[in-house]
Amino acid sequence: MTISSTETDLGRTRRARRIGRALTEAHPDAHCELDHSNALELAVATILSAQCTDKKVNEVTPKLFVRYPTAADYAGADRAELEELIRPTGFYRNKTDSLIKLGQALVERYDGRVPGRLADLVTLPGIGRKTANVILGNAFDVPGITVDTHFQRLVQRWKLTAQTDPVKIEHEIGALFPKREWTMLSHRIIFHGRRVCHARKPACGACTLAKLCPSYGTGPTEPAAAKLLKGPRARDLAAAAGVDPELVPRQAVAAEVP
Ligand code: SF4
Repeated sequence: MTISSTETDLGRTRRARRIGRALTEAHPDAHCELDHSNALELAVATILSAQCTDKKVNEVTPKLFVRYPTAADYAGADRAELEELIRPTGFYRNKTDSLIKLGQALVERYDGRVPGRLADLVTLPGIGRKTANVILGNAFDVPGITVDTHFQRLVQRWKLTAQTDPVKIEHEIGALFPKREWTMLSHRIIFHGRRVCHARKPACGACTLAKLCPSYGTGPTEPAAAKLLKGPRARDLAAAAGVDPELVPRQAVAAEVP
């Protein structure tokens, strides 16, 4: 699609909303991919997810959450034991440090509870704005936009923003969509980035957003691009884009999403 350099703000908002609707259809299964059952577990899982796949984090957390059910448990954790439990997620010394300090800060300042306000969350060790928005959106039902690497790459490919600073991106994209949609929109964009619009070889030829995307052609445009799709719904995604689902190899369906 050729997007004119003079696209009006209204035109951009309309295109953004169309992209939002196409994403809703493409990814009905979008959700927070970090397993958790409360705000503390989500905060911990998000800290562990730095430089690590969500799948690996989800392998580690069941045991961790049983061993450390409260903020006080992290605050008083035996460092060596905690390090051993989270070692598979990488950077385990730094992450152990963050978890212990997070536990201590929650106990000292918030009575052991994770606060439900952005301004409070970002003062906590290991919690930046991105993590805070994940926690707000998924544990407190407060709409939040999560600008991670996938989100940033995709909204730039769609030319919905020219900003490169995550906070400015968050505000610009937020202004294009109703607030109540922010959390699910973030999940859907991240799903699309992990399954279709990859950093190096996006599956343009099998992407349902092709007609709305000014970066169509960044990846291969022939139907065989379907082999680049990933995840359990890869064949559904191909079919939705009008491509033969049989072009999606079995490994792609079983593939771990990044
Ligand atoms: S058309 Fe290509 S660049 Fe655009 S969203 Fe789809 S995969 Fe990404």
